[in-house]
Amino acid sequence: MLSLPTADTLRAQLAADGRFSENVLNAIHDIPRTFFVPEAFQDRAFENSSLPIGLHQTISQPTVVALMTEALQLDDRQKVLEIGTGSGYQTSILSKLCRRVYSLERHKPLLAKAEERFRQLGLTNVVARFGDGSMGWKEQAPFSRIIVTAAAIDVPEVLLDQLDVGGIMIVPVGLDERTQELLKITKHEDDIVTEELGEVRFVPLISDEEGG
Ligand code: SAH
Repeated sequence: MLSLPTADTLRAQLAADGRFSENVLNAIHDIPRTFFVPEAFQDRAFENSSLPIGLHQTISQPTVVALMTEALQLDDRQKVLEIGTGSGYQTSILSKLCRRVYSLERHKPLLAKAEERFRQLGLTNVVARFGDGSMGWKEQAPFSRIIVTAAAIDVPEVLLDQLDVGGIMIVPVGLDERTQELLKITKHEDDIVTEELGEVRFVPLISDEEGG
């Protein structure tokens, strides 16, 4: 009989990848993905794959969550802005590794479910809000880290403005689903350094002017 993947097998699979620190592996292990996937996909919750969460949105693949989390170089001083709360899975992992996470979501039903999960998991350093993340979160800016979990057509300038000097932003950029590149952007005093972390597939970042 085939046994189902568990939190332990997922951790082992990500550890075998070789790119992820103990801190990131432990945070992923400690946040049960079963909480974040719909009833119909419970059997597959610890698979290393993206899964539907309703409203045409997806919970990201654990490898991609690990890659983005690692690239953010988190510690307990970091104030993180996340665009695209979705299921709240990535948010919850971030919350284990930083001081506070501010997360924005443009689908109210997804936000409500995610907030319920934060309560159930006792995560007290997450603030989530309904809104268009392409405008950032001006009242709380600047942030030392920004993570965008939906694909932008270009690096969002508004978000770059809300990033601290010395800060890091992780954002998938690309015109369509097949040609997205995950970018790590470091903001220095006088310049912006961009590194490519590999190809990814995210649902599009939709600003309120576009609708959808
Ligand atoms: N990080 C999520 C997956 C994100 S899917 C998880 O771990 O489950 C991308 C999410 O971004 C979707 O929920 C989508 O509604 C949201 N989104 C897209 N454009 C947005 C915008 N402009 N502002 C806020 N959220 C947005």
